[in-house]
Amino acid sequence: MDARHARYPFLGGAREAVEAAGVDLADVVATDRDVVERAVERVTRALTDREVGPMARSTRVELLSYPVARVLASLVDADVARRRYASAEAATAYERFTTDFDDDAEMRSVGSAGLTRDALLREFGLSVAVRRDGERYRMDVVPYLEYAASLRGEEWRLATRALSDGTVPIGADELDRLLRQAVEERVADGLPLSVPDAISSELSREVATIEETLAELDFTRDIDTVVPELFPPCMQHLLDGIQRGDHLPHHSRFAITSFLANIGLATDEIVDLYAVNPGFGREMTRYQADHIRGDSSPTEYTAPSCATMQAYGDCVNPDDLCDAVSHPLSYYEAKLEDADEDEVTDWRERDSDEDP
Ligand code: SF4
Repeated sequence: MDARHARYPFLGGAREAVEAAGVDLADVVATDRDVVERAVERVTRALTDREVGPMARSTRVELLSYPVARVLASLVDADVARRRYASAEAATAYERFTTDFDDDAEMRSVGSAGLTRDALLREFGLSVAVRRDGERYRMDVVPYLEYAASLRGEEWRLATRALSDGTVPIGADELDRLLRQAVEERVADGLPLSVPDAISSELSREVATIEETLAELDFTRDIDTVVPELFPPCMQHLLDGIQRGDHLPHHSRFAITSFLANIGLATDEIVDLYAVNPGFGREMTRYQADHIRGDSSPTEYTAPSCATMQAYGDCVNPDDLCDAVSHPLSYYEAKLEDADEDEVTDWRERDSDEDP
């Protein structure tokens, strides 16, 4: 099995490699814990972090975890899980192929050629429909509409493009966004799969775990209360750091900003909350908050899970409640539920001279 197939398991060649190896999926889920665990990680990370997590060290485990993850996403009783899973596979693929387009050193280091834009166009049958036009490209209008239809932003609407001879002008970055969309559609294609009983009963515990994660996350749309005293220790720590003027690494800043956006703060409110310190970087905060919210990007991001926070060293001062949650948003929800009503004064409704 090829490292490129593990890196891009949605490719037709990857599927053929699995078939050629005579892999029996029922056998894999019954006997190979590494594959099943990586598959569970793919789906849970898709729900919590909108990406599918780092690759397994074994090419075989990484490649086989993809069809098993599609089975798991099919067995979860929620369409939103399948949508988020397909979107996360596409987001991860996008990160990887845009890296490969710039420099395929990572793939060459494991003896495999990286993916080129031309190869990806061939993969999706777009070699003829997409043509170079100097530094830019032109794409036939029918496939353009197929992939651009679900993208947010006026710039994707046909009315804003100079249509000519049935083709639409696009930049290389835009072409990559459309290719990401093509990946997402391929991952989602056929989901939910019809899964044989032997496989679904073997995976029942894993499906329950994923459904628990989903249940914990579902509330995020309902939270619209900002009480910094009830934040989980990790987020209090990061917010304190920002307000003290500490320089936080990107992942830490992403964690606190996405947390604040998920609990209902508008971009201007996040900027205000950070602005206690004059050197906090107003424009950077605004850009990042808009990006996380999905206003200036194709994806709306969710704050990282506890596992990701731990991996980055952002899990600080965990307390007893932390033992019972797997996500900082779950911690905050539990705190809000337990708090007396007079403890829950939204930061936005306080007198302006009160500290957040
Ligand atoms: S366990 Fe989770 S909620 Fe608690 S401090 Fe660590 S990352 Fe935050």
